[in-house]
Amino acid sequence: MAVDASPRPIHSRPPEALPREVDVAVVGSGFGGLAAAVALRRAGRDFVVLERDDDVGGTWRDNSYPGCACDVPSHLYSFSFAPNPDWSRSFSPQPEILDYLRSVARRFGVLPRIRFGAEVLDASWDAASMRWRIETPRGSLTARVLVAGTGPLSEPSVPALPGLASFRGTAFHSAKWRHDHDLAGERVAVIGTGASAIQIVPQIQPEVSHLTVFQRTAPWVMRRRDRDFGTAERWAYRHIPGTQRLARSAIYWGRESWVLGFAKQTWLMGIGERMAHRLLRQQVPDPELRAKLTPRYRLGCKRVLLATDYYPALAQPNVDVVTDRIAEILPHAIATEASDGSRIEHPVDTIVFGTGFHVTDPPIADRVRDGNGRRLSELWSRDGMSALHGLTVAGFPNLFMLVGPNTGLGHSSIVLMIEAQVAHVMDALRQMDARGLTAIEPRPEVQSAYAARMQRELAGTVWNAGGCASWYLDDHGRNTTLWPTFTFAFRRELQRCDLRNYVVHRAVEAAGGHRDPVAAEALGWS
Ligand code: NAP
Repeated sequence: MAVDASPRPIHSRPPEALPREVDVAVVGSGFGGLAAAVALRRAGRDFVVLERDDDVGGTWRDNSYPGCACDVPSHLYSFSFAPNPDWSRSFSPQPEILDYLRSVARRFGVLPRIRFGAEVLDASWDAASMRWRIETPRGSLTARVLVAGTGPLSEPSVPALPGLASFRGTAFHSAKWRHDHDLAGERVAVIGTGASAIQIVPQIQPEVSHLTVFQRTAPWVMRRRDRDFGTAERWAYRHIPGTQRLARSAIYWGRESWVLGFAKQTWLMGIGERMAHRLLRQQVPDPELRAKLTPRYRLGCKRVLLATDYYPALAQPNVDVVTDRIAEILPHAIATEASDGSRIEHPVDTIVFGTGFHVTDPPIADRVRDGNGRRLSELWSRDGMSALHGLTVAGFPNLFMLVGPNTGLGHSSIVLMIEAQVAHVMDALRQMDARGLTAIEPRPEVQSAYAARMQRELAGTVWNAGGCASWYLDDHGRNTTLWPTFTFAFRRELQRCDLRNYVVHRAVEAAGGHRDPVAAEALGWS
């Protein structure tokens, strides 16, 4: 099996010590953390990036499974400030994206600010000093501002299937691919049929002796229009000014138009459904298999998967698609139970979990505590995830969570959302400096109104009303993951941080320690 991940570490010098105090601490060095780091460096601010691993890249470092690639076109799935004329093809493979992120870290001079092996174990707001106290395995530090770039796809989710601990074979998650384990000639099970699994299946199918794909819900799959960028095209991107920006714009507006179907006129999804049905008919001649693979909900309700090699792999003689419920894991098999109660044991040597991530219960929320020691996860498990602009949370001053609640996209590049949020954070910091503020936190009523607006706007969208159960929705049935409309609307809304939405804190230590929170309105700002 091809090993996709480049083994070279990004840093070769001995690790530098953690600063004891810093103005801004950024957590993570994936797309979010790096975007924040570049902006902070450009603004000449005092900051450090705390990275749990030994390389940058976040989800693009962790996910190195065979076939791992982006399903958003490369020109759009990159920073606007760092276009890459060297993408080899329209949908970049994981190693290229990881290399890109490494090159951004180097080129923009943020590498020396990153401390590797510095996982944030705990971050609590100290109301007295108005600083975050942060614990890492490399020691502790304090920061005035905490920017969490931990993202929603950082912690793999493995379902607690009965008997899993008794399994005697090898089992691993798609985000923790065991490159040391050879699947050739094995009986392999892939559990899950999401964006990760459908990239893995075509890669491993030719090598394994038997592949059993456990599908709980049939995904919608559409043709992936992927192609190589030839030398001439790459030359044009590098040498003809504006060419790449034009290509990016065309992709951007093409993708934005999808919002019309997803969120405004959901009947339009019928057009895409007909195209997807046609692909299924063309690629899966067996009517029984085709019936199993036919989705029973509106296109777009779950993430639309782009793959031209998935169905043909499933149609191979060494592959079974099992749709019965997984009842139990046995030492050498997976037992399923059909609706009539009949039970089948499927012998397997290796189980690959393509079962996704902890999206609506992100682990960072378990590690961030307010001034009273209360965890953000406690608040969110009671009320559901919520943050003003997907960024700031009442009671958690100076915490900025990139790609927080309601910032996910069903149609375009998350990098667009990250850049809008980073611009907002930078504007907030500038205004705080200008007004001599130490800390800000959203007014609870403003945050609640924002969260209610998100639910109102999402109500009629295909993500909420498309007739499926998806991880877009939390245990309360609320969609706390997706942004309801166009990305340009998000960018426009976040262009400027309106401090009237915030309770502001001023530390006037020298003048007697006045630290009362004040609503910005009360200060007469408009
Ligand atoms: P995912 O979309 O959450 O899919 C998880 C799969 O596992 C689903 O098919 C789900 O079935 C199944 N599953 C979960 N728990 C199960 C259980 N207990 N028993 C049986 N099946 C179970 O996860 P993912 O494929 O890793 O993708 C996560 C996200 O990562 C994507 O939506 C996307 O945002 C991102 N991603 C992006 C790319 C890219 O190209 N940009 C590639 C890979 C991943 P149900 O459908 O029934 O819930």
